Amino acid sequence: MKDSYGRDINYLRISLTENCNLKCIYCLPEDFSPKQYNERNILSEKNVLSIAEAAKEMGINKIRLTGGEPLLRKDIVSIVSGIKKIGIDEIYITTNGILLADKAEKLKSAGLSGINVSLDTLDENQFKEITRGGKLSKVLEGIEKSSDCGLKVKINSVILKGINENAIKSLAEITLKKDIDVRFIELMPVGQGRKFTGIKNEEIYNLLQNLFQFNNNFFEIKGVAKYYKLKNSIGEIGFISPVNSCFCESCNKIRITSDGNIKRCLNINGHKNIKKYLDEGAGKEIIKDILKDEIFKKPEKHLFGKENKDEEMKNMNQIGG
Ligand code: SAM
Repeated sequence: MKDSYGRDINYLRISLTENCNLKCIYCLPEDFSPKQYNERNILSEKNVLSIAEAAKEMGINKIRLTGGEPLLRKDIVSIVSGIKKIGIDEIYITTNGILLADKAEKLKSAGLSGINVSLDTLDENQFKEITRGGKLSKVLEGIEKSSDCGLKVKINSVILKGINENAIKSLAEITLKKDIDVRFIELMPVGQGRKFTGIKNEEIYNLLQNLFQFNNNFFEIKGVAKYYKLKNSIGEIGFISPVNSCFCESCNKIRITSDGNIKRCLNINGHKNIKKYLDEGAGKEIIKDILKDEIFKKPEKHLFGKENKDEEMKNMNQIGG
């Protein structure tokens, strides 16, 4: 369905938990400890499937499951297969990859279309530092297993000034060797991200142009990402630049947090809680009306760096990055 600015909203991101098994320095506070959920506080599998069913009838054809870390959910395979049965063909997961090796094949068989793995460096010690203790080899194993079983893999990298700029080259080099896309996502001033300085994607583009040169015959825009290819590469390099080149004009998504708040925009505070209605037994038409209303009220743009009385102050794991 179209929002009030004429954008076709066909992409829904559902967060399945706030919990995470890593604590990336720009995402989670150091003292974060996993939430002890009462099952009733987060979207159940049944809630997720009811939302997906209503959303499909409104023209949503792509669902991404995120978090927190979505692979911490014991019912993740069953959720993917349930969404597939509803008839949504494009189902993706964004994950840190730590638990991916064991689950990749099962997720593929359940109907998963592809996986985005967040990875900000290929250096073991740097990875440990950024994730506060994560094991890089687990993520690399997860990526390999995913590729081997036929899942399309995209790597999402956030580059922080003075921390992992030296990782740009080796991350980009992945596209020379494998059919994996590497996407650089600008650091957003959200939650813990406010404590760090990001790098403009333009700088990363120029660095890669100098190091490898881009193939002049390749350029694509898909959703909010601009894709290029290095000369002689297999995979693509994507740039997602929410801060330095506002992409809101092509925003096609709506989000739901793990506790059921519908978010019209990542940067703007939560609105209606859909879980409450689902748990009270609301039928599909009511859920559709709620989603329609929220989509219609999507703001024109995010307000990063501007006065915003409704600014979202939560961390990315709570928003559903
Ligand atoms: N745990 C999963 C993962 O690591 O992919 C999914 C949730 S995580 C919040 C999703 C993505 O948000 C990660 O790629 C992470 O790098 C990104 N992220 C977190 N904080 C961010 C920020 N302030 N700006 C840009 N991206 C951010």
